[in-house]
Parts: sequence; C-alpha cells; structure tokens
Amino acid sequence: MHYESPASTREAVALLAKARGSAHVLAGGTDLLVRMRGDFIDPDLIVDIKRIAAVNEIKETASGFSIGAGVPCAHLSDNKALLKAWPGVVEAAQLIGSDQIQGRCTIAGNLCNASPAADSVPALVAAKARAVVVGPKGRRRAKAEDIVTAPGKTSLKKGEFVESIVLPKRPPKSGDAYLRFIPRTEMDIAVCSAGVSLVLGPRNIVKSARVVLGAVAPTVVIVPKAARALVGTKLDDKAMQKLTAACEAACSPIDDKRGTVEYRTEVAGVLARRAAKIAYARARGQSARGRK
Ligand SMILES: Cc1cc2nc3c(=O)[nH]c(=O)nc-3n(C[C@H](O)[C@H](O)[C@H](O)COP(=O)(O)OP(=O)(O)OC[C@H]3O[C@@H](n4cnc5c(N)ncnc54)[C@H](O)[C@@H]3O)c2cc1C
Repeated sequence: MHYESPASTREAVALLAKARGSAHVLAGGTDLLVRMRGDFIDPDLIVDIKRIAAVNEIKETASGFSIGAGVPCAHLSDNKALLKAWPGVVEAAQLIGSDQIQGRCTIAGNLCNASPAADSVPALVAAKARAVVVGPKGRRRAKAEDIVTAPGKTSLKKGEFVESIVLPKRPPKSGDAYLRFIPRTEMDIAVCSAGVSLVLGPRNIVKSARVVLGAVAPTVVIVPKAARALVGTKLDDKAMQKLTAACEAACSPIDDKRGTVEYRTEVAGVLARRAAKIAYARARGQSARGRK
C-alpha cells in the first residue's frame, strides 16, 4: 500500500487519476481506518488530503459558505457566522462520534462514506448544500443528494474527490435544525433522523421549506409533500399532522434489532415535527436548544 500526502488539489487529482487498483481519499480517517483495520478494504493507494491548505479553511463568500473537505467537524462552531447562518448543519456535524472523532472527522468524509445513517447528510441536503468536486476534467458542483447513490457508493468518478462543501447564503428569517434518535445518549448510529430548513415571509408564515429524513431508506429521503405541508402556515396542528403523515409515508427503512420498520417510521415523523419547530423558532430569532 502506498500513502501519499500531496500539498495541492492538482497533485491529489493526478495521484488518484493514475492510481492502479483501489485508491482512497483519507480525510479524518474515522471511517476509512476502521474499515481497513476491520479488513473490509485493502487500499493500494491512500491520498491524504489534510495537508492541502485550500481544503483546510472555512470561507464566507458573497454567495454563502465554503467548508474545505479537510476541516474537522470540531472547528465548525468556531466560525460564528457559519453557526449563526446554519445552526442545524453545525449541530448535525457535531453529533458525530466523540471529541476525539470530532477532532479528525469531516463533513465531506461523512458524505462520501455514504452511510444511510450519516448524521450531517440530512442537514446538508435540507440546506441545499453543494459538493465542489475536483477531478481530471476540472471542477464541478454537485448537489449533496447526488453524491450518495447507494449505501457505501458515490457518484464520484475515478480521479475525483470532494474539495469543499458549499452552503448557500441565508435570507433573513430562516432557520434549520437536525435531530436524530439513538438508543444510547452518545456514540451511536442514528436509528432515524430528520433535517429541516425553512424561510419565513411576512407575519412569520413559512415561505419555503425542505424536509429530509435519514436512516429510513438506502439514501436520504427528501420529502417535498412534508415541505408543502409547512408552506403557508405557522406550523399549526394541521400542518404538523400533514408533515408527520408525509414523512411516515416516505419511509422505507430496514427492520433490525435497533428498530423495527414501524418504530423507525413513527419516530421519523416525530423527529421531523420537532426539527420543524426548532427551525421555525430559529427563523424567528428565538433561542432553540440553547442556540440563537
Ligand atoms: C467511534 C466512532 C463514532 C462515530 N460516530 C458517528 C456518528 O455519530 N455519526 C456519523 O454520521 N458517523 C459517525 N462515525 C463515522 C465517521 O466518524 C463519520 O462518517 C465521519 O464524518 C467521516 O469523516 P472522515 O473525514 O473521518 O472520513 P474518512 O474516514 O477519511 O473517509 C470516509 C470515506 O469517504 C472517502 N472520502 C473522505 N473524504 C473525501 C473527499 N473529500 N472526497 C472523496 N472521498 C472522500 C474516503 O475515501 C472514505 O471512503 C463514527 C466513527 C467512529 C469511529
């Protein structure tokens, strides 16, 4: 096995593009090293991207935020503008693992690992995040939901890797939230999860919304009917009932010892409802779960 730690994106692309056998990008390594130690994979080449300066920064631009693919999740909340604009994305990323895991893991790694239960992904998709993908043919942008195609599979082509995750600029009166259910209090994989992002119009009526479920299907599930249930409302009981029904109908989870189909389906609806309320409170500038 060869290990390379290039100093530029161009060099990393060249290494990945000319690799023979299996080549893997190493970001935080919190999934990759576990899979190697478990003998699930045996890479011929590992390209460590953490030495590339460009992928180690969070930038605020006119159109939003760019989070480099090497930025550890622990650093996300240090950027107060990012935390204020996208508290749901930050809280989702900072639910991953423990302090030790947080010090290494990345949201790009969470996305590219392509686990149906990945915590940051429903929040990223609810936020309409884009992945900036670099490869032999240059740079392209892909919707976060288009990166993961199946459990453990991505749409990335040979030689490509995610350079950064881009979050759009937030209009005024907008909020997002992410909730997951785990049987333990920490260090567990989501049994199901929900990310909600919404924007309010005049009189605090929901103008637009996006509702995304995690761990209830092979990839995240965007639920447009649930979003439509919120639009034009102040999250009254009827809207909440419609949202719950739409989320439950969108679930097609696995049945295992951590949760039956019925259980995951019901809890997904509950989480979506609660996440919508938190996102709504945040959009109104009210503190939700201790964050403004
Ligand atoms: C103890 C423990 C607890 C955990 N808890 C959680 C949890 O609560 N929630 C959760 O969602 N996950 C959890 N995980 C899984 C893991 O920590 C996350 O998925 C993490 O975000 C992976 O990021 P990473 O940077 O470490 O990825 P890596 O391990 O470096 O990479 C993961 C995969 O993505 C690929 N990859 C990485 N970066 C890129 C890139 N920029 N472009 C293309 N491909 C790339 C790698 O080749 C590899 O296949 C846990 C893991 C451990 C060991």
